[in-house]
Amino acid sequence: MAECLFCGIAAGEIPATIVSSNPHTIAFRDINPQAPVHVLVIPRDHYPNLAELAASGDGLLAELVAHAHEVAVAEGIADSGYRVIFNTGLQAGQTVPHVHAHVLGGRLMNWPPG
Ligand code: 5GP
Ligand code: ZN
Repeated sequence: MAECLFCGIAAGEIPATIVSSNPHTIAFRDINPQAPVHVLVIPRDHYPNLAELAASGDGLLAELVAHAHEVAVAEGIADSGYRVIFNTGLQAGQTVPHVHAHVLGGRLMNWPPG
């Protein structure tokens, strides 16, 4: 059993509602949605945060963001508008130390995000 929650989801050990799956990334619904569409996109491999994924320099960050856009298209929010958010670190409210992009949409978002 993986020690990391999202590694567990990637391995299929922890159940999640998978939205789509790419060779190196997986998208699944957030368990506590903050908008009509709230999907998390993660790399299959473990990177603790955005900084470490960006530093890996192997194109995986670009794949992750491209997958986030694919999710927005598939969920029908690409034209109406959507947010992609990487909470990074304590003050941003990152609670799961496996990098994940939140894809949020389907309602009017306030700005700045609260
Ligand atoms: P963070 O606060 O780290 O940016 O986001 C973590 C997100 O993971 C939260 O929005 C939370 O609702 C979601 N989450 C936490 N545990 C689980 C889980 O077991 N399954 C799913 N699908 N989402 C989870
Ligand atoms: Zn992990």
